[in-house]
Amino acid sequence: ESTNPNHQQKANEIIEKCLPYANKSIRIGITGVPGVGKSTFIESFGKFFTSKGNKVAVLAIDPSSSINKGSILGDKTRMEELVKDQNAYIRPSPSGESLGGVAQKTRETIILCEAAGFNTIFIETVGVGQSETAVHSMVDFFLLLKLAGAGDELQGIKRGIIEMADAIVINKADNENIKNAKLAKNEFSRALHLYPIKESKWQPKVTTCSAFYNIGIENVSKIINDYMSLTQENGYFEIRRNEQNNYWLLETIDQELKTNFYQQTAIKKALEEYGKAIKNSKTTPFKAAEELLKLSKK
Ligand code: GDP
Repeated sequence: ESTNPNHQQKANEIIEKCLPYANKSIRIGITGVPGVGKSTFIESFGKFFTSKGNKVAVLAIDPSSSINKGSILGDKTRMEELVKDQNAYIRPSPSGESLGGVAQKTRETIILCEAAGFNTIFIETVGVGQSETAVHSMVDFFLLLKLAGAGDELQGIKRGIIEMADAIVINKADNENIKNAKLAKNEFSRALHLYPIKESKWQPKVTTCSAFYNIGIENVSKIINDYMSLTQENGYFEIRRNEQNNYWLLETIDQELKTNFYQQTAIKKALEEYGKAIKNSKTTPFKAAEELLKLSKK
C-alpha cells in the first residue's frame, strides 16, 4: 500500500510474478447494510468452506474507513472463529484516498491470495456509496444479504444493487422471524422475475438463512455451485473475467494518470494559483483545467 514509487515498482513485480498462479478460485462478493449479519454470515459460510478443505480469504472494501477514517466493517475482532482457522485469512479494508485506489489494492490482493493457494475469496462491502459497483467488478458471484420485514428504503438498498445480485439471501430467518423471512423470499422471487434475463443466463435465486444458528448455509453454497456450473459451461465465467481484466486495465491507467498528475510539484503550485484565479473570476474551471493539463509532464 506504500505510495513510494520504489515500493510500488517492487509490488507490481511481485503481483506480476504471482499472476500465473492466480485465477484458480471462486470470487464471491457479499454486500448488505450494517447490522444485516455480514460478519456472522461470512464466519458461518467461511467455516463451511474450510470444513470442505478449501482455503478462504476474506477481503473488505469499506469506503467509510478511507473517507473519514472510521470503519463500518470494523476490525479483526469480527469473525472470531474464522480468524483462528488455519485455512482462513481475513484482511481489513485497505486504506486510501479514493474508492478507486482502495478497490485496486483489493483487486491486487485477490491475486496474491490466489497465488498463495486461497481458492475461495470473499469480498465484503457495505451497502453505501459506490462500493458495490467496485466489488461487483471484481467478483464472479454477487450476493446480497437482506432482512425480512424492513422496506428497501429502510435498508438503504438501491435498485441497482438488486440488479447486480446473483442471489439474495434473507438472513436472520430464525425464531419468530421465520415466517416473515419466507414471505420476503416469495416477494423477492416474484420481483426478480421482472428483471431482464442476465447475460450470464442465470436466474438470480432467493433463499433464507440464519447465519447465527447456521441454518441454510449449505444451500447458499449449492446455489453458487449451480451458478459456477452454468457459467463455466456456457462460457460466461471466462468472458466475465476477461471483461473485468479489461475494466481493471483502464481503471489502473486512470488511477496512474491521476496520481502522476497530482504528485507533480508544478501542478500542485499551479492548482493553487488557478484556484484563486477561478475564485476571482479571472478564468473558468474549464480553461484552467486545459492549462493545467498542458503544464503536466508527458
Ligand atoms: P454486519 O454489520 O452486517 O457485519 O452484521 P453482524 O454480523 O455484526 O451482525 C449484527 C447483529 O445481528 C449481531 O448482533 C449478530 O449476532 C446478529 N445476527 C447476525 N446474523 C444473525 C442471524 O442469522 N440470526 C439472528 N437472530 N441474529 C443474527
